[in-house]
Amino acid sequence: MILPIEFRYRKPRVTSRDKRTAPSGALEHQDLLSGFVRLHVLHHAVKEDVYGQWMIEELARHGYRLSAGTLYPMLHAMERRGYLKSTQVQVGRTHRRVYRATALGQEALDAAETKLRELFREVVEER
Ligand SMILES: [Zn+2]
Repeated sequence: MILPIEFRYRKPRVTSRDKRTAPSGALEHQDLLSGFVRLHVLHHAVKEDVYGQWMIEELARHGYRLSAGTLYPMLHAMERRGYLKSTQVQVGRTHRRVYRATALGQEALDAAETKLRELFREVVEER
């Protein structure tokens, strides 16, 4: 089953600075933020099958602008490392590659959650 798009988050603010400096399709501050993106992917892939275009739209809702050329290699790398497992599913007359978190992916997300709470406390709440 494919996740429906949810609308429980606020739309991210786009500042004039973002518009000026963000290269289209690329992830600004990629080195720092790509870990967030991977955790975001894992978070959804633990619950349900996800696929590239859905993930791009989901991330866009959270203010991450990624092209397929950025996201797909990330998904492939996560699969190579054993965090995700993909399968081809038939959609109408075409095929779609869907991803699901593995047990290792679940374990990694659990470990990250603890770190994330701690980081959130320090970076956001103590500011
Ligand atoms: Zn999400």
